[in-house]
Amino acid sequence: MMGQMMDQPLLVSGILEFAARHHGASEIVSRRVEGDIHRYTYRDCEARARRLASALQGLGVAMGDRVATLAWNGYRHMELYYAVSGSGAVLHTINPRLHPEQIAYIINHAEGRYLFFDLSFLPAIEAMARHCKTVKGFVALCGRAAMPADGAIPGLMCYEDLLESGDPGYAWPQFDERCAAALCYTSGTTGNPKGALYSHRSTVLHAYASAMPNGLNVSARDTVLPVVPMFHVNAWGLPYSVPLSGAKLVFPGPALDGKSLYELFEAEGVTFSAGVPTVWLGLINHVMQHGLRFSTFRRTVIGGSACPPAMMDTLIDELDVEVVHAWGMTEMSPLGTACTLLGRHAALPPAQQRAVLRKQGHAIYGVDMKIVDDDGSELPWDGATYGHLLVKGPWVVSGYFRGEGGDILQDGWFPTGDVATIDPDGYLMITDRSKDVIKSGGEWIGSIDLENIAMSHPAVLQAACIGVAHPKWDERPLLVVVKRPGAALAREELLGFFEGKVAKWWIPDDVVFTDALPVGGTGKIQKNKLREAYQGHRLP
Ligand code: ADP
Repeated sequence: MMGQMMDQPLLVSGILEFAARHHGASEIVSRRVEGDIHRYTYRDCEARARRLASALQGLGVAMGDRVATLAWNGYRHMELYYAVSGSGAVLHTINPRLHPEQIAYIINHAEGRYLFFDLSFLPAIEAMARHCKTVKGFVALCGRAAMPADGAIPGLMCYEDLLESGDPGYAWPQFDERCAAALCYTSGTTGNPKGALYSHRSTVLHAYASAMPNGLNVSARDTVLPVVPMFHVNAWGLPYSVPLSGAKLVFPGPALDGKSLYELFEAEGVTFSAGVPTVWLGLINHVMQHGLRFSTFRRTVIGGSACPPAMMDTLIDELDVEVVHAWGMTEMSPLGTACTLLGRHAALPPAQQRAVLRKQGHAIYGVDMKIVDDDGSELPWDGATYGHLLVKGPWVVSGYFRGEGGDILQDGWFPTGDVATIDPDGYLMITDRSKDVIKSGGEWIGSIDLENIAMSHPAVLQAACIGVAHPKWDERPLLVVVKRPGAALAREELLGFFEGKVAKWWIPDDVVFTDALPVGGTGKIQKNKLREAYQGHRLP
C-alpha cells in the first residue's frame, strides 16, 4: 500500500522559495569584489535568481547543461547557485586557485556552456578563454559601469544586463528530484581532478541533515559567515542549509585575511562560521595579536583537514568560541561526521570532553560508515583498531562524472581513502589519508597525531609530517615545521617534546625548519609537494 502524502520533488529551488516566503526579510550581506558592502534579503535574492534563470533560458541553456562559475562568496554567486540549478541546468563551481591549465581541463571535461566569473579572475580568464572549447559565452559578475574595456574575451557579457533581460514572472520548473543540480571536482592531488555530480535530492537531503543540531546546528537565530569558499564543495552546503534555516547570511568576498574577517564578523554580528584550519590561523592570529575579542561569534565548524588541538584550545578557552570538528569530502557533498557531545559527556571533566571534541565526530543521519582491513573485513569499533574507512548514503557518489575511474564502489560502499578508528560510541577519528600514512617496518604511523603534538609546542606555528625513505624501515617520519615569528626552537628540543606523548618508535627521526608550507587551492597543506621536496632528505 502506498502512502497518501503529496509527492513533491526535493528541488534546490524549493529551498530559496521557502526562505523568500517564510524568512523573506532575513538578510544576505556581501563584501563585494569592488570593496563595498551590499545588502538585500532572501526575498530580493529569490526574485533575482528567478529572473536570472529566465535569462539563462534566453541564452539557450537547457536542462542538464553545465554552467561554470569562478567566483568568491557573494550574493551574485548565490543567485547563480539557484538560477542555474533551479532552471534544471548544472551549476559547476570551479576553484580559481587551481592552475589555469587545470581549470581549462575541468571546464572542457565538464563541457561547460557558459562561464560566469568575478572580475578578480579576468586576467586568468583572458589567458585561458581560447582553450575552453565548449564555452559559448563568458559573463562578468558586475554592473555595466564596472565592465572591463574590450579585451581578449570576445562578446563578454555583463551580469547585471543579462539578469535585466530575464522575465520577472518566471516560475521555477518542477522535475525529477534525481536530476543533476551541481558538479564539483576533487582537487586531484593525484591524477586529474574527478567530478562529483550532485542531484537535487542529494543536495536537499544533505542540507536538511547537515543543518540539524548534531550537525552544523544552524537556526533562524544565527548569522552565518561561510569562510569556506563557494568553490570548495559548494561551501560545505551552507548556501543551501542556511536559507533552509532562515538564518542571516554574510559573504566575505575576496577579503579572507584576519583583519577583514574580524571587521565583518563584528559589523554584522556573525554567530557562526565554517572553514579549513589554515583560514582560522589568520583570524586567530589577528585577534590574539591585537588583544581583540569576538562580541557575537560563538561557534565554528572546522574541517577539510584535521583541526589542530592547539587551535581548538585557543578558540574555546581564550576566545569563547565553540568548535565543531567535522569530516567529509567532495564525494560526500561533503558532510559525513560532526563532533558534538552526547548528553552523558556533560558529566565528564573538561579534559575528557575535549578529548571527545578532538575527534572528527559522529555520523549524521543519512551517512553510514565502517572500517575494514586490507581484505575488506569489517573491523571493531573499539577506538583503537584502525582501518580503511568506507561510507554510504544518499549524498555519497556512486561513480565519478563521465565514468572516470570506472566502478569505484566496493560492495556498494565508497572507499574514502582515509584511515580511521571508530570508538564504541560511534565517534570517528581520522588517523591519516592512506597515501599520507607513514609505513615504518610494516607498521603504520599516523601523521596527524605527530603534527598535532608538534603544533601544541608554543614555538610552532604549523607542522606537517611526511614519510621519507629509510634503508632499514622503508619509511620514517620527517617533521617539517614553520616556527612562530620570532620564536627560537632547536630540532632536539622539539623531538624531546614528543617523549612520553607517543610510542618511542613513532617519534620523528628528524625536523626541518622552513618559512612556509605549500598550501593547495582549498587551503590544505600539500603533502605530495613536501614529499617531492624532501624525497632525498638524509635522515640522521
Ligand atoms: P581534496 O582535498 O582532494 O580537495 P576534499 O576537499 O574532498 O578533497 O577532501 C577530503 C579529504 O580531506 C578527506 O578524505 C580527508 O582526508 C580530509 N579531511 C576532511 N576533513 C577532515 C578532518 N576533519 N580531519 C582530517 N582530515 C579531514
